[in-house]
Amino acid sequence: MDRKEIITLHDVSFSYGNVPVLQDVDFSIFERDFLGIIGPNGGGKTTLLKLILGLVTPDRGEITIFGAPPKAGRKFIGYVPQLFNFDFNFPISVLEVVSMGRLRVRKIGRRFTKEDREISLEALRQVGMEAHQNALIGNLSGGQRQRVFIARALATQPRCLLLDEPVASIDKKWQSEFYELLNELNSELTIVLVTHDVSVVVTYIDQIACLNGKVHYHGSTKEGIHKVSELYQCPVQLIAHEVPHRLLGDHVHD
Ligand code: ADP
Repeated sequence: MDRKEIITLHDVSFSYGNVPVLQDVDFSIFERDFLGIIGPNGGGKTTLLKLILGLVTPDRGEITIFGAPPKAGRKFIGYVPQLFNFDFNFPISVLEVVSMGRLRVRKIGRRFTKEDREISLEALRQVGMEAHQNALIGNLSGGQRQRVFIARALATQPRCLLLDEPVASIDKKWQSEFYELLNELNSELTIVLVTHDVSVVVTYIDQIACLNGKVHYHGSTKEGIHKVSELYQCPVQLIAHEVPHRLLGDHVHD
């Protein structure tokens, strides 16, 4: 079955001033992919996200998001930001956080409608947080907050979810649940997760792209694991016995 390309980067290069950050990046993300973009700190991951979201423009090359330039195509992308910088003392409820996702799609100045509320509640249902809709975001655990921010992105009714360093702010116990949730969402959505935390990603995600100035590898995690080790200059192993079968299928566990 032919899969549709939804995000394409064609020979993309980008520099901050005269410091090159990305060179000749040439790769595609396909509909319903579940892709981990990994690479060391400073490897250009955040810059790649900014390029995809149209926040910076390439010096060279072309980027297409759902057939459109990034600024027009980004409405199809639900973005889940890093949570380190969010002020969790701010007295805002879970439902209010998720409703912020509707701000992007409704006209400026219009009040939230019943439909906005329904969509926000449905997003909370998808991440299993509906019962917490009135809780203050600051009173939730790290894993629960993460779900709420995924719900906020889902409330924009995206076709692709883009998550920036999501695992850094959650504890080990929640990690496998978190990947299971992403796996469920992946039945309808493309999922792209960006992180420097390679150990977790190679355990749970079957497809990776390694980025360090350029794309060093893009393909199956199992086949590329030695490349990942080279990139990080240390051995990285698949922790096969911890991998839920439904995430990675039969080819990985021993
Ligand atoms: P990563 O997300 O993989 O850690 P970044 O995309 O944030 O990497 O950064 C890639 C390189 O670009 C780094 O060397 C970083 O110092 C540099 N850089 C990032 N943002 C800026 C900026 N706004 N101005 C100048 N240099 C930057």
